[in-house]
Amino acid sequence: MVGMTITGSLGVLALFSADYPLGLLLIAASLVYLVAYRIHKLTKDSTLSAAIIVYSLHALTVSLVYSGGVENTGPLWLFLVPPVSLFLHGLKRGLIEISISLSILCLILFLPPDVFGGANYETAFKLRLIIAFITVTFLAACYEYSIEQSYKDTLQASEQFEQLARTDQLTKLCNRRGALTVIEQEQRRMSRNKQAMSIILCDVDHFKKVNDQYGHNTGDAVLISLAETFTQLIRKQDTIARWGGEEFLFVLPETSAENAYILSQKIHQVLQDQLIDVEGIKIAVTVSMGVTEMHGNQAFDEIINQADKHLYEAKRAGRNQTMPKTLSTEG
Ligand code: GH3
Ligand code: MG
Ligand code: MG
Repeated sequence: MVGMTITGSLGVLALFSADYPLGLLLIAASLVYLVAYRIHKLTKDSTLSAAIIVYSLHALTVSLVYSGGVENTGPLWLFLVPPVSLFLHGLKRGLIEISISLSILCLILFLPPDVFGGANYETAFKLRLIIAFITVTFLAACYEYSIEQSYKDTLQASEQFEQLARTDQLTKLCNRRGALTVIEQEQRRMSRNKQAMSIILCDVDHFKKVNDQYGHNTGDAVLISLAETFTQLIRKQDTIARWGGEEFLFVLPETSAENAYILSQKIHQVLQDQLIDVEGIKIAVTVSMGVTEMHGNQAFDEIINQADKHLYEAKRAGRNQTMPKTLSTEG
């Protein structure tokens, strides 16, 4: 919009002063900027419009240096090139394009007049013009570099925050938010490959007693140790999340309820075979689990409620077990 207004106004002025070639050149440039603006508005993508603006600005300034513009003031507009070019095309591409433009300018300015013709400038003016142009380019490049660096730092920090927001700080597993993200992704994948997926909701039995007997810190250590044990038992594509206080959620893609049940039996067996060791204190821990297989586009709330119902059944049946046991009637 800025380019369009300035070139348009100067173009009209040039036409009034009967400088028709310059007037038409500026009006044409103004229309090019208008087209770039419309493209940007219509496509919501700045790639094409940025290229149009940058290349037409290069072409316009080279032709102004060549023709001299109004009373040899054309070269003044050259100083717009570095900031606009670097801002719109970034540091690397911007600098390459500026270097090409600079080479063309040097040829126009320093080759003998009979080669290209064009406006006449004093040698001292031409030299200082090029030095000033290189200085402005250097400063604009420094500015662009610092902007790019701080953009990268901000992006990295935001990724770290995002990661933290999805991680449970005690066990380093996914937290509930992270689990929901994983489930959404897996549900999308499931609707494509049509394979079954299961979840297991797992709750530590009588965990309150562990806290009461050994203290809260030991309880925390037990949760960390359980998270490690579970992590060793799952496949790479599976996810375990800390769903709540002493509740864990297993997300098992491409897994039938039968196979999820088999995993749960492995977990019961491992916990039965090993006591959890917290600074020399050996603690026996059991868990109860509810398994549910997910189908098609079932709402996640429905699935988790079902798993919770099965977990409750496992608790009622005496804990240290997984429900449902008769998986053929599941559903
Ligand atoms: P149940 O077999 O019925 O599940 O018995 P429970 O004692 O495990 O169940 P309940 O829900 O009554 O108690 C859960 C306990 O888990 C209570 C709470 O203090 C403890 N808890 C929850 N989160 C944490 C935690 O982050 N650290 C520790 N140490 N304890 C926790
Ligand atoms: Mg609980
Ligand atoms: Mg419990």
